[in-house]
Amino acid sequence: MPTENGLLLVVSGPAGSGKGTVLAELLADPAFAYSVSATTRAPRPGEADGVNYYFLDRAAFEARIANDDMLEYTEYCGNYYGTPRAEAEAVLASGRNLILEIEVEGAANVKRRYPGAVSVMLLPPSFAVQEARLRGRGTETEEKIRARLARTREEVAKVEDYDYVVYNRDGCAHAAAEDIRAIVRAERARLARNADVATRYFANEE
Ligand code: 5GP
Repeated sequence: MPTENGLLLVVSGPAGSGKGTVLAELLADPAFAYSVSATTRAPRPGEADGVNYYFLDRAAFEARIANDDMLEYTEYCGNYYGTPRAEAEAVLASGRNLILEIEVEGAANVKRRYPGAVSVMLLPPSFAVQEARLRGRGTETEEKIRARLARTREEVAKVEDYDYVVYNRDGCAHAAAEDIRAIVRAERARLARNADVATRYFANEE
């Protein structure tokens, strides 16, 4: 029998990294589940409670923190963001791999609390390509684009804290998803995650 618990997989990536497309491909496979975060920021048009986020007010969020209901949380741009712990742990116990799509501080908190977690930084092939993608979308103001690019400098400066880096080249989201699958396969095969190999091997298990 291989590893029984699912892998806790942290994926971070700056705006323009194509996280959404890559994660959607992984999540089409039932072996992967997505953790819906809680946040105090207001819903954007089209976002639904319980689907994109659990939208909470600050008092409710702080009550959850006090109750140790958050696996990790952080304050980002004036709002709380956090991963509900009970849901996450239930998914992992079921053997599915759980994807947390969170920013760098949350990623560091997860690694401290769960040393077995694996973190992946998903990046566009270069800063120049990222900038071109953000401008090409044409959905954001120049000010917002600049703020996101500035934020990228801070995030990429912390990339050494991650276990893996995966590049999402133009038109190659499938390849990036495959890279992440390969990481998960290799991590699940690590001996450190497969306790008592000898005992299990000789126990005539199915
Ligand atoms: P947005 O407001 O654009 O949806 O998200 C802002 C940032 O918060 C993104 O970098 C996203 O990855 C991060 N984020 C979303 N959910 C969580 C969470 O549960 N915990 C942490 N630490 N960051 C989160």
